[in-house]
Amino acid sequence: MTNTLPGMAEIWQETLNWQPTEEQQAKFQQLYELILEGNRQLNLTRITEPQEFWEKHLWDSLRGIAPQQKLISSLEEGASVIDIGTGAGFPGVPIAIVAPNSTITLVDSTRKKINFIDTILDKLALTNAKTLVSRAEEIGQQTQHRQQYDIALIRAVSNASVCAEYTLPLLKQGGLAIIYRGTWTEEETQTLQNAVIQLGGEIEAIENFSTPLTHSIRHCLHLRKIATTPAKFPRTVGTPTQKPL
Ligand code: SAH
Repeated sequence: MTNTLPGMAEIWQETLNWQPTEEQQAKFQQLYELILEGNRQLNLTRITEPQEFWEKHLWDSLRGIAPQQKLISSLEEGASVIDIGTGAGFPGVPIAIVAPNSTITLVDSTRKKINFIDTILDKLALTNAKTLVSRAEEIGQQTQHRQQYDIALIRAVSNASVCAEYTLPLLKQGGLAIIYRGTWTEEETQTLQNAVIQLGGEIEAIENFSTPLTHSIRHCLHLRKIATTPAKFPRTVGTPTQKPL
């Protein structure tokens, strides 16, 4: 027996002012089945029940790109997006499904996770997504990636200052980094503020909301790149986590 994801049309409508097409819903279902299957070999996710998968992986991934309940419009116009530490493909793969005009680069330092995502992209015919086995500290210093992206996404990779150092160098001036968080405190804002200034960014918004089924706390931090990131950032592999800004 296969598990079937819930449709949740009303909740999508209420929370994102959007609903998946039948084709997108079919891709969500396919993605879910492939991840359940992949989980037998690889430790991809502990979130396997249909409602939980819908909420914590699909809804959560898409809510991050829908500040004020509206999908970011540049995604429709063909934004270039990078997802750092994508793991089993979150938030990048659901975004590739709903934003066919955008190009999504999925990066992870673990080759076996990226190999798995390659099979997903192939089976779901997601031609607007590509993968890369690398570290944020490395691509942040490579001309083909540095200052190349409109949007950089990062979920469950490290603390916020580290995430800022991983994402801001990759953005074009005016680009947006979105850091997905659970809880968040005012003290953390102070620390992050200090890091973001050094990296050429500013904290544009801190969105606070709860998930629609289990009412879990979420925050999305929006960092805007307003100046060139100094050449010394990102620092060498491992330094951002060992000595966070
Ligand atoms: N974003 C996914 C996975 C989170 S687990 C989700 O929210 O479900 C964190 C992932 O980040 C792991 O797969 C790990 O390999 C990757 N990662 C950690 N540090 C990294 C770095 N510096 N560069 C690239 N990937 C990194």
